[in-house]
Amino acid sequence: MDKMINLRDLLEHEVQDLYSAEEQIIEALPKMIEKANNRELKKALQDHLKVTQQQKDRLDQVKKLLLGEEEGSADKKQPGLFGRLFGGSNHKCKGTEGLIEEGEKVMSENMTPEVLDAAIIACAQKIEHYEICGYGTARAYARELNLGDVAELLEETLDEEYEADDTLTDLAVSRLNEKAQNASDDEDDTEEEVAMPQSTRVRPAAPKAKKAAPKKAAPKKSTVSSKSKTVAKKSKASRGKTSRARS
Ligand code: FE
Ligand code: FE
Ligand code: ZN
Repeated sequence: MDKMINLRDLLEHEVQDLYSAEEQIIEALPKMIEKANNRELKKALQDHLKVTQQQKDRLDQVKKLLLGEEEGSADKKQPGLFGRLFGGSNHKCKGTEGLIEEGEKVMSENMTPEVLDAAIIACAQKIEHYEICGYGTARAYARELNLGDVAELLEETLDEEYEADDTLTDLAVSRLNEKAQNASDDEDDTEEEVAMPQSTRVRPAAPKAKKAAPKKAAPKKSTVSSKSKTVAKKSKASRGKTSRARS
């Protein structure tokens, strides 16, 4: 690959990586939808497939913006990565490839429909978290480079990935993990929510939500409660702080 010389190159590389990720996800989701048993889970994955298609288109917009900006740049002697790659990037996101591969392997195991649903959620959430990290990083770079339009587009997708992740957490914690457990063990009707690490992100709760949230016996600080969806919408601003460029 071409030598990267600055943050801008790194941003363009990240955008290529995300593009490849979205492409692979568009290919992988239909198989997961087919395997899912729970109607709500199927629907959530179907919805995210549509959203993912739009996310890929949004990245095309981002690429256009970056390329246009490169061409209009006064710094002609130093074309950005896209200028050098234009027309010929075949970068593949290995992270997504690995996550999908791992998921497919687990899903091919012999398991009950309920356990399979829980496994599908786990696989999908690992992918969401990878994307959240990538988009958060890219947005931070874009902000640093004063590319406001690019940062905004990336943030739109970032918010969608958070939402998809929240939906999956709600599904898992509210029902599907329990079903997976009950299907094998009727006598155990404990309400513990710690069967799977659906703890998702660690981010500061919005001040309002803190007051509103009843003191539920949350097992872990990071466990996202079913109330978190509303919280998530309110704490959009605080996300900027949690998804800094650290990946
Ligand atoms: Fe995505
Ligand atoms: Fe990647
Ligand atoms: Zn996604």
